[in-house]
Amino acid sequence: MNELLAAYRYTTNNFAQIGASKVCGCCNCVALFKPDDIVGWTGLTLQNLDDPKAINDQTAMCPHCGSEAVLGDGCGFAINANFLARMNEAWFQRTMIHRPKPKPAA
Ligand SMILES: [Zn+2]
Repeated sequence: MNELLAAYRYTTNNFAQIGASKVCGCCNCVALFKPDDIVGWTGLTLQNLDDPKAINDQTAMCPHCGSEAVLGDGCGFAINANFLARMNEAWFQRTMIHRPKPKPAA
Protein backbone atom coordinates (compact mmCIF):
# COMPACT_ATOMS: atom_id res chain seq x y z
CA MET A 1 0.00 0.00 0.00
CA ASN A 2 1.12 3.54 -0.68
CA GLU A 3 2.69 4.84 2.53
CA LEU A 4 0.77 8.09 2.38
CA LEU A 5 -2.46 6.17 2.07
CA ALA A 6 -1.37 3.91 4.92
CA ALA A 7 -0.51 6.88 7.09
CA TYR A 8 -3.78 8.63 6.32
CA ARG A 9 -5.69 5.95 8.20
CA TYR A 10 -3.96 7.07 11.37
CA THR A 11 -5.42 10.54 11.26
CA THR A 12 -8.69 9.25 12.67
CA ASN A 13 -9.51 7.30 15.83
CA ASN A 14 -5.91 7.86 16.86
CA PHE A 15 -6.13 8.54 20.58
CA ALA A 16 -4.15 5.46 21.65
CA GLN A 17 -1.63 5.82 18.84
CA ILE A 18 -0.93 9.45 19.68
CA GLY A 19 -0.61 8.56 23.33
CA ALA A 20 2.24 6.28 22.28
CA SER A 21 3.90 8.96 20.16
CA LYS A 22 6.74 11.34 20.94
CA VAL A 23 6.08 13.76 18.14
CA CYS A 24 2.92 14.60 16.23
CA GLY A 25 2.27 16.57 13.09
CA CYS A 26 -0.67 18.00 11.21
CA CYS A 27 -1.22 17.16 7.55
CA ASN A 28 -3.26 20.30 7.07
CA CYS A 29 -1.06 23.10 8.48
CA VAL A 30 2.14 21.00 8.54
CA ALA A 31 2.91 21.96 12.14
CA LEU A 32 4.96 19.69 14.39
CA PHE A 33 4.02 19.47 18.05
CA LYS A 34 4.07 17.23 21.10
CA PRO A 35 1.19 14.91 21.89
CA ASP A 36 0.71 16.93 25.09
CA ASP A 37 -0.08 19.99 22.99
CA ILE A 38 -3.26 18.37 21.69
CA VAL A 39 -6.17 19.64 23.72
CA GLY A 40 -9.04 18.93 21.37
CA TRP A 41 -10.45 15.50 20.58
CA THR A 42 -13.59 14.49 18.78
CA GLY A 43 -15.62 11.35 19.18
CA LEU A 44 -16.87 11.44 22.76
CA THR A 45 -20.41 12.30 23.70
CA LEU A 46 -22.15 12.40 27.03
CA GLN A 47 -23.39 8.91 26.23
CA ASN A 48 -20.01 7.26 25.79
CA LEU A 49 -17.77 9.31 28.09
CA ASP A 50 -16.99 6.25 30.21
CA ASP A 51 -16.60 3.79 27.36
CA PRO A 52 -12.91 2.77 27.11
CA LYS A 53 -13.33 1.86 23.45
CA ALA A 54 -14.87 5.22 22.64
CA ILE A 55 -12.02 6.94 24.48
CA ASN A 56 -9.44 5.05 22.43
CA ASP A 57 -11.38 5.86 19.25
CA GLN A 58 -11.21 9.60 19.74
CA THR A 59 -9.74 11.64 16.93
CA ALA A 60 -7.13 14.28 17.64
CA MET A 61 -7.65 17.87 16.54
CA CYS A 62 -4.64 19.91 15.55
CA PRO A 63 -3.77 22.45 18.30
CA HIS A 64 -2.84 24.95 15.60
CA CYS A 65 -5.56 24.76 12.96
CA GLY A 66 -8.20 22.47 14.47
CA SER A 67 -8.11 19.95 11.64
CA GLU A 68 -8.68 16.28 12.27
CA ALA A 69 -5.49 15.56 10.35
CA VAL A 70 -3.04 14.73 13.12
CA LEU A 71 -0.48 11.95 12.85
CA GLY A 72 1.76 10.66 15.62
CA ASP A 73 5.01 8.80 15.14
CA GLY A 74 3.46 5.99 17.17
CA CYS A 75 1.82 4.91 13.93
CA GLY A 76 5.20 3.74 12.65
CA PHE A 77 5.92 6.57 10.24
CA ALA A 78 8.61 9.15 10.91
CA ILE A 79 6.73 12.39 11.45
CA ASN A 80 8.78 15.28 10.12
CA ALA A 81 8.33 18.36 7.98
CA ASN A 82 9.10 16.50 4.77
CA PHE A 83 6.61 13.72 5.43
CA LEU A 84 3.90 16.16 6.47
CA ALA A 85 4.49 18.22 3.35
CA ARG A 86 3.98 15.12 1.20
CA MET A 87 0.82 14.21 3.11
CA ASN A 88 -0.44 17.75 2.77
CA GLU A 89 0.17 17.80 -0.94
CA ALA A 90 -1.46 14.42 -1.47
CA TRP A 91 -4.58 14.93 0.59
CA PHE A 92 -5.33 18.60 0.82
CA GLN A 93 -4.06 20.14 -2.34
CA ARG A 94 -4.46 17.56 -5.04
CA THR A 95 -6.43 14.49 -4.19
CA MET A 96 -8.55 15.11 -1.14
CA ILE A 97 -10.16 11.84 -0.20
CA HIS A 98 -13.91 11.78 -0.01
CA ARG A 99 -14.82 8.85 2.12
CA PRO A 100 -17.83 6.99 0.81
CA LYS A 101 -20.69 6.81 3.23
CA PRO A 102 -21.22 3.32 4.66
CA LYS A 103 -23.68 1.42 2.52
CA PRO A 104 -26.89 0.45 4.26
CA ALA A 105 -27.04 -3.26 4.96
CA ALA A 106 -28.89 -4.99 2.15
ZN1 LIG B 1 -2.97 21.85 11.80
